[in-house]
Amino acid sequence: MMKRFRDDWKDETRLVHGGTLRSSFGETSEAIYLTQGFVYESAEAAESRFKGEEPGFIYSRYANPTVDMLEQRMCALEGAEDARAMASGMAAVAAALLCSLKAGDHVVAARALFGSCRWIIETLMPRYGIESTLVDGRSIDAWEGAVRKNTKLFFLESPTNPTLEVCDIAAIAELANSIGARLVVDNVFATPILQKPLELGAHVVVYSATKHIDGQGRCLGGIILSDKAWIDEHLHDYFRHTGPSLSPFNAWTLLKGLETLPIRVQRQMESASRIADYLADHPKIARVVYPGRPDHPQADIVKRQMKGGSTLICLDVKGGKESAFAFSNRLNIIGISNNLGDAKSLITHPATTTHKNLAEEARLEAGINPGTLRLSVGLENADDLLADIEQALAGV
Ligand SMILES: *Cc1c(COP(=O)(O)O)cnc(C)c1O
Repeated sequence: MMKRFRDDWKDETRLVHGGTLRSSFGETSEAIYLTQGFVYESAEAAESRFKGEEPGFIYSRYANPTVDMLEQRMCALEGAEDARAMASGMAAVAAALLCSLKAGDHVVAARALFGSCRWIIETLMPRYGIESTLVDGRSIDAWEGAVRKNTKLFFLESPTNPTLEVCDIAAIAELANSIGARLVVDNVFATPILQKPLELGAHVVVYSATKHIDGQGRCLGGIILSDKAWIDEHLHDYFRHTGPSLSPFNAWTLLKGLETLPIRVQRQMESASRIADYLADHPKIARVVYPGRPDHPQADIVKRQMKGGSTLICLDVKGGKESAFAFSNRLNIIGISNNLGDAKSLITHPATTTHKNLAEEARLEAGINPGTLRLSVGLENADDLLADIEQALAGV
């Protein structure tokens, strides 16, 4: 497919113009091609399009012009050769993991994973004869120690949900290369603005576009990016025949989200950084984990592999669950929700919501305490957010 951006464009320009397919009407804003199929000039044209001898669309389960614009714009941002957009982040993670694996293969994954990702690895894959080992993703020795003869794939998230731990992507990619395995990175928390896993050596990157890419809480979506050879060999047929395709309407919403992604992430990160500093000095707060702070446990790796901190903060309120609930309930601007990356600031109590299915021991081991909260900082005025947090903590 022809590249639809220029190499000398920087990220912001790529995200406004990259991938655009303008129709003969010359519309300024990208069109929504809400169609299932396409008609052909002749029976001969249909034949040659099915043979792949002539370019063009066949059926929206395979590809659609609006979805294609989203895929190509993401490729332009990520520096990837090819991509497939999907109906949700989990459709993308499931496809990225399953499309290349078969019975008898072994996977090594970082233990601190999004709950549904962990279910795919621990519960679904064994049913199909795919084995796995979960490791502490921060320890290169742990990755190395888990490798077997049949290890085909490494999988990690960085920073992790909700404790914002960081894995050394370049070092883990190098280990994967040395044993002929592929590294798949779930880059949702970092966003493609703050971290580019493919440049760090990862082979495949996946997103829940539901989060920062939409950024306004409207629709679900996901995307997988990699080199053309991997997509052609593993994902192309899997994607066509299992049908996790994204609706053109949702693709359009996400495509327009990409235009404002850099300024949203920048602003949300600046506010998060201020709030993290405020919380770290507050007497009612026991712990703050924020990748932009010098006291982050992997601050050196953050500096090496990320362009900035995060739009998210992990914090522990002193006094456990009761205090965490009291604080959350007293917030007026910040909403209680399990979503993240939204224009609206949102707070989550992982132990009773997103991570309630983990055994208590595993939860504590993952650093999720009864008083732990995850704050996703939105686009509100930072002074207003600080005032909201201050008054809520005063009442705890
Ligand atoms: C939300 C999320 C997912 C799943 O995405 P959906 O769009 O909800 O299916 C996967 N990984 C991470 C890190 C997430 O935050």
